[in-house]
Amino acid sequence: MDFTRAKRLQALPPYLFAEIDRLKAAQIARGVDVVNLGVGDPDLPTPSFVVEALQKAAQNPAYHQYPSYSGMNSFRASAANWCKKRFNLDLDPSTEVMTLIGSKEGIALFPLAFVNPGDVTLVPSPAYPVYQAGTIFAGGQVHAMPLLKENGFLPDLDAIDPAVAQKAKILYINYPNNPTGAVADGAFFEKIVAFAKHYNIIVAHDAAYSEMSFDGYRAPSFLETEGAKDVGIEFHSLSKSFNMTGWRLGFAIGNAEILAGLGQVKANVDSGAFNAIQEAGTVALEHGDPFIKTMRSVYAERRDILIKGLQEAGLDVEPQRATFYVWCGVPKGMTSSAFTTLLLEQGGIVTTPGSGFGAAGEGYVRFALSVSKERIVEAVARIKKMDF
Ligand SMILES: *Cc1c(COP(=O)(O)O)cnc(C)c1O
Repeated sequence: MDFTRAKRLQALPPYLFAEIDRLKAAQIARGVDVVNLGVGDPDLPTPSFVVEALQKAAQNPAYHQYPSYSGMNSFRASAANWCKKRFNLDLDPSTEVMTLIGSKEGIALFPLAFVNPGDVTLVPSPAYPVYQAGTIFAGGQVHAMPLLKENGFLPDLDAIDPAVAQKAKILYINYPNNPTGAVADGAFFEKIVAFAKHYNIIVAHDAAYSEMSFDGYRAPSFLETEGAKDVGIEFHSLSKSFNMTGWRLGFAIGNAEILAGLGQVKANVDSGAFNAIQEAGTVALEHGDPFIKTMRSVYAERRDILIKGLQEAGLDVEPQRATFYVWCGVPKGMTSSAFTTLLLEQGGIVTTPGSGFGAAGEGYVRFALSVSKERIVEAVARIKKMDF
């Protein structure tokens, strides 16, 4: 028998987190009280009013059959309303909103709709790994756009070779940004629209962290920008906004023709999100504002404790205005993975090496604010005792 995996899997970058997982398991086996700041998964539960809405909806036999491919009309209408209220967007729920089984699903399948073998996609580095994986599965080639501190962790469009841009089909952006915590403003989005129009490139904006912001900052939608709907779509997720990562619910909005392409792929691959979950999602979108306010204050408090502690320990880090990630420079002369290993072996603290998100993430580690403030206080105390 020959079970050699397909070239598309062999083409994926090595799974850099495997080594961290191994070291973490070894620490736990040794009885170390590990503080896990590695995963980007909210630790607090889904608000109970959303859980109750699911309990009720699950009892409706009409929801036990196959859902619609592009989503329930009521969920898409409430997503459009939410976008109107939050970003002042005017969206037609029947053509400009599509339900996703979590935004990762939509992001991963998207290149299958528009990328031919040999085509290029423009992908930030560091970035959420799914933009790259989706491109590879479609036979495309990733061109990395480094996100550098001196550019506010925004890609420098002028640095992209015009010959590469000519071949590009999709440009990915993600603000508020995982892993850097950076945010983007309207002026940046205007540049993106002009670039996309000039080179005939689709813009895919990942807005998974649109609601997770602090100090009064509110992230804009890419689609607020003039002309954005001519060139792009935006991925939204209920996962991070409402502590619903396990539920698998998101939605895409924007250009109807681009969404129809994604819809064609999806109709051939999946059969839609469970209607009862969409109904609970509707309740979350319609009544979730007080919850989001609380969620923001929980993470802001954790962020302040961690940032202060890391700065007092002599590390190079600044408070981010959004996301639950702290993007921290590593001590001089150390690599990302060496510092991650040191934090784990000396402090029992799990972090993610920046290099795991792409070559331009070297020199940083990512801390996720996904544990209680008491555990963050504990992590800070341990880091202050370490020598680096
Ligand atoms: C968590 C995350 C998502 C995925 O969210 P789901 O809707 O749960 O699939 C998408 N993009 C980024 C950048 C994320 O960090």
